[in-house]
Amino acid sequence: MAYQIKLSAPIFNGNESIYIQQAVDSGHLATYGSFIDQFEYKLGALTKTHQAVALNSGTSALHLGMALLGVSHGDEVICQSFTFCASANPIIYLGATPIFVDSELDTWNMCPELLEDAILNRIANGRKPKAIVIVHLFGMPAKMNEIIEVASKYQIPILEDAAEAVGSKYANRHCGTFGELGVYSFNGNKIITAGGGGALISKNASLLQKAEYLSMQAREDLPYYQHLEIGYNYRMNNLSAAVGVAQMEQLHQAVKRRREINQNYRQLLNNMPGIKFQDDSDLSESNYWLTTVLIDEKVMGFSNDQLRIKLMKNGIETRFLWKPLHMQPVYRGIQFFGGSIAKSLFHSGICLPSSSDLTFDDQSRIVQLIQDELAKSFK
Ligand SMILES: *Cc1c(COP(=O)(O)O)cnc(C)c1O
Repeated sequence: MAYQIKLSAPIFNGNESIYIQQAVDSGHLATYGSFIDQFEYKLGALTKTHQAVALNSGTSALHLGMALLGVSHGDEVICQSFTFCASANPIIYLGATPIFVDSELDTWNMCPELLEDAILNRIANGRKPKAIVIVHLFGMPAKMNEIIEVASKYQIPILEDAAEAVGSKYANRHCGTFGELGVYSFNGNKIITAGGGGALISKNASLLQKAEYLSMQAREDLPYYQHLEIGYNYRMNNLSAAVGVAQMEQLHQAVKRRREINQNYRQLLNNMPGIKFQDDSDLSESNYWLTTVLIDEKVMGFSNDQLRIKLMKNGIETRFLWKPLHMQPVYRGIQFFGGSIAKSLFHSGICLPSSSDLTFDDQSRIVQLIQDELAKSFK
């Protein structure tokens, strides 16, 4: 269905077409070219302390990142349950087993206490986890201070899935810079896009060098093709990077807009009982990639699904929150530490339209429809 108001539409009102033309004129559209260098430079400059390797998706960045942390056949990797499948699928690609951990109610991301329970349980079983995948869901930074404390106590590296959190900050540092390795995604509906794309970021230059080498089929620097290792075809191409560079020029503005949109929703919904937002903590500054709310059905008289259908009928696209991975049929039987927090978030939550070019009038219309639905339930 063609929605009038989309959940998260990309915006190309910068230098995208100019840079695409320059890439075409340069004759480099494949995995070499100046836009790839510029894109990596811009990502490094954004985080100030880190360097980046541009890849063809966030999923491939997660896959390479785990491989670089030494995850291999028979290992166990702890992963946030409340996330998109791409956070965990690479664990399976590598022949390892995920261990899922529930969220906490403040940030909706991994609960540090449950993380420690999971680690202690696995160590007691002689299976010390090889890595921890932390996710900043919908752009909201996880409780990194607490999580790092647990991870360093047991000396387990963190792979930060910041796919949704480009431009988000925690304690004045960009998400993605807290783990051994961080992952960004530039897929089509993320806060900025390269059409498709991803990046690994790190302070560890030799690890990134290895990532670049593996992303281009692990080819030795010789006049003929020689390989000492199995590599991947995961490098970003110069055409995507051209779009990525133009979008990076707009990142600051995009974060500003999405935070404004989140603020407008809060104002328009005006502390409506029965609606709860995902809130920043004192330490965090979410990019609010998507504005997400929980609908208390008992108070509102309608469910998240009823609201989704109502808005859909009015040409407005919404989406459920991610269905937790421990509830996914494909991950049946995988060990899970926690209770029902991620599950209840999934059952009551909804993502509201959050495109950077959403107008105040559009937002007022969406909120009016929510208020109409509320009035209808109590007529
Ligand atoms: C989008 C996303 C990914 C994967 O990124 P792609 O670029 O689509 O491969 C991974 N994790 C999370 C949480 C995401 O939202």
